[in-house]
Amino acid sequence: MAITAVEELNILHSTQLIIKEALGKMGYSEEMYELLKEPLRVLSVRIPIRMDNGEYRVFQGFRAQHNDAVGPTKGGVRFHPNVTEDEVKALSIWMSLKCGIVDLPYGGGKGGIICDPREMSKGELERLSRGYVRAISQIVGPTKDIPAPDVMTNAQIMAWMMDEYSRIREFDSPGFITGKPIVLGGSQGRESATAKGVTIMIDQALKAKGIPLHKARIVIQGFGNAGSYLAKFMHDSGASVIGISDVYGALYDPNGLDIDDLLSRRDAFGTVTKLFPNTISNRQLLEQDCDILVPAAIENQITMDNADRIRAKIIVEAANGPTTMEATRFLTAREVLIIPDVLASAGGVVVSYFEWVQNNQGYYWSLEQVDSKLKEVMVKAFENVYNVHISRKVDMRLAAYMTGIRKMAEAVKYRGWI
Ligand code: NAD
Repeated sequence: MAITAVEELNILHSTQLIIKEALGKMGYSEEMYELLKEPLRVLSVRIPIRMDNGEYRVFQGFRAQHNDAVGPTKGGVRFHPNVTEDEVKALSIWMSLKCGIVDLPYGGGKGGIICDPREMSKGELERLSRGYVRAISQIVGPTKDIPAPDVMTNAQIMAWMMDEYSRIREFDSPGFITGKPIVLGGSQGRESATAKGVTIMIDQALKAKGIPLHKARIVIQGFGNAGSYLAKFMHDSGASVIGISDVYGALYDPNGLDIDDLLSRRDAFGTVTKLFPNTISNRQLLEQDCDILVPAAIENQITMDNADRIRAKIIVEAANGPTTMEATRFLTAREVLIIPDVLASAGGVVVSYFEWVQNNQGYYWSLEQVDSKLKEVMVKAFENVYNVHISRKVDMRLAAYMTGIRKMAEAVKYRGWI
């Protein structure tokens, strides 16, 4: 079905189109699509915060809960100036798909606040984080909806949120939120889990394409939590990281970049390129010759505007929504193997789930245990999606949606909702 350029970039709209196609291919009814195309619940909140200069500012926030037929909803909270309600809704649907693909007992949720943490003091960020929890406290909780970090939120913000929730409920509630500091019940390996999951996907994709790891040349867009850990893991495993970027520009060297040096110079928001004179643009970076391209920044980076200039053999989506549906079809037809976001970046939610299990048990695992369980889950998820891709002759994104939505649709049926 042809869609316009504006529709191509509306992530909620394109997600709904793929869900419709996935449900249709598996023989589910139109009613099932009507239920699953939107979140069951979206709360929009206004949060008044006293700023350091004594004035009050009112921030807009959201929390979307896509579907809780499988279990409580789960998903990160994003602090970004461009957050919109539609984006949060789409991200909550993607979380449902991710949880289905890696077979967790969760549905998807997502939150966001329209703000720019780069312009805020630590005190202002703390008041905003606590204000958000007070505003959404009635619909969240360890057995209802469990938040986590996402773009420009981190372990400190999770700690403030957990503390605020525990104060409201008057008992310690580490299982309310994941991605916490280790001393507050965080899991070993959570901070780097998304990147670790991506490395497992890269391994599987290289095997499928017959490229040895030590010969692989990798370009990574974004040098934040996902991108920088990934660069480190790939560099340490012997692959050559030849390009990285942040919001201000990109660094590219066909002979490989000095990742340890870049890591030691990046700031808390994943920016480093400002320190270098010879940068190229993010757009140019995406078009460089490489084996693996990993978008690990934001949405809509590979579209019908630049798809014909992408030279990577494999695209592994660490970011949510970096490649549009049309560009996916175009590149798949050119035999580029795309490991879609809902599969590739699921490592974060898998270890978040491990963190929640450990909090509920009050018993904590070693990094080795976390890593080996993560690997087992991710390899199995890759095989499941890849098998659907081959056996049903559909692109990897559609295969991932089919794999991810099935459990939820079955749970909806058993509960008698449809
Ligand atoms: P982050 O805030 O830590 O880092 C984002 C990086 O992208 C920074 O280097 C920033 O400079 C860069 N960036 C921002 N805007 C950009 C632009 N317009 N062009 C190019 N670069 C830009 O965020 P993160 O946690 O690493 O998340 C990155 C992506 O991965 C997001 O799409 C997020 O939803 C997804 N993701 C993250 C996790 C996680 O656990 N952190 C899990 C799943 C998915």
